[in-house]
Amino acid sequence: MRVILAAMPSARYTSLLAEELAPEVLERFTRYVRIDTQSRRERTSSPSTRGQLELGRMLVEELRAVGLHDAELDENGYVMATLPARDAATLAIGLIAHLDTSPDAPGHGVEPIVHRDYDGGAIELPTGETKLDPATMPELAEKRGHDLVTARGDTLLGADDKAGVAEIMTALSHLAAHPGLPRPMLRVAFTPDEEIGEGASLFDLERFGAQCAYTLDGSDLGELQDETFSALEATVTIHGVDVHPGFATGKLISALRLAAKVVAALPDDLTPERTSGRDGFIHPYELTATAATARLRAILRDFDEERLQAHVELLERTVRDVLATAPRARYELDVTRQYRNMRTYLEAVPEVTAAAEAAIRAEGIEPIRTPIRGGTDGSRLSEMGLPTPNIFTGGHEYHSVREWASLQEMAAAAATIVRLAEVWSQPGNDGAAADEVRAARASS
Ligand SMILES: [Zn+2]
Repeated sequence: MRVILAAMPSARYTSLLAEELAPEVLERFTRYVRIDTQSRRERTSSPSTRGQLELGRMLVEELRAVGLHDAELDENGYVMATLPARDAATLAIGLIAHLDTSPDAPGHGVEPIVHRDYDGGAIELPTGETKLDPATMPELAEKRGHDLVTARGDTLLGADDKAGVAEIMTALSHLAAHPGLPRPMLRVAFTPDEEIGEGASLFDLERFGAQCAYTLDGSDLGELQDETFSALEATVTIHGVDVHPGFATGKLISALRLAAKVVAALPDDLTPERTSGRDGFIHPYELTATAATARLRAILRDFDEERLQAHVELLERTVRDVLATAPRARYELDVTRQYRNMRTYLEAVPEVTAAAEAAIRAEGIEPIRTPIRGGTDGSRLSEMGLPTPNIFTGGHEYHSVREWASLQEMAAAAATIVRLAEVWSQPGNDGAAADEVRAARASS
């Protein structure tokens, strides 16, 4: 067994194309991650932070340099550009990645470190006592022989989503340099503020003009996602009766205590930490309370709309049951939609996901179809009329100081984009599929 492991090739590329693209992917990636593009939740303008504009401007210049002459950064921080089709086709396919990084871990001063030919052991990062341990990170354990990129241990890496940005840039530069390769018109968009849920908000679909698109914002090799959570946010406001504690006997109704009882009465097995796969949850994430008023904010998630509604009813029933013990207390429940499972929209245009599946297979990878326990730009774009499934990037442990990426997987993703262009150029995948996509868009 040992002998076999030692004889494994050190560079585990999925294809010669991936191996050819790897140096450019790495060069771009390690440059992009150094720019602090962390988004900020309290947003007063788009983008929420200036660093995203800096990266946007840099990408516009680089897109123009490889031949996408119409590249532009708009006033809201969206980069768009076109790689024309090889021949006069009407089909336009979109490629999307986001410029910002998560506000959930430090994003300033990212210094990428390349660990060549990973030996399969634990990786100690130089700062922050951060350790990447294959014993607790099963995906890492599989990457023996890969070249891995990490940060220094005290910041995120930003593979989410600069891996996607670097892969799209590299694929476009390769296609532009090889005009003989088959391709439809490719439209690229780099979006701001995805991590704070605003990536699709000011996305100009008309201007983008693609029939469908792909986000490069997934994780492990081969992932192809056409299903996300359906997402609601609920705010429960409880009004108690506040009385000076010295005169409170029989009069005071504490909203704070009622809210605490509501949280305690919600089922233990319906939480993010106790669910997985296709199960949804109710996740109270903020409680602000006084004796007079309590406000409980929760996110509700499920892949199924009916079950999502059942979570809303369960939350309301729990509030009512608790408040039944305090008849003079009142409550309001406010529920708002955040995004909807994109499968609802992608089912109508099976060609879109099928093309990505064919491209991943053409790269020699078996597609992994996992539902996303979250949302992507694609969730809202699909709802807005642009069918947009999500493809892997080779980045892992997102939103943390342990974030890492595999160069071999990033190169595979770049190669998959080149193959995707070829799939969309095949006869029969041209007119009919595009029309169906358009028809679905018009009727939605
Ligand atoms: Zn992302």
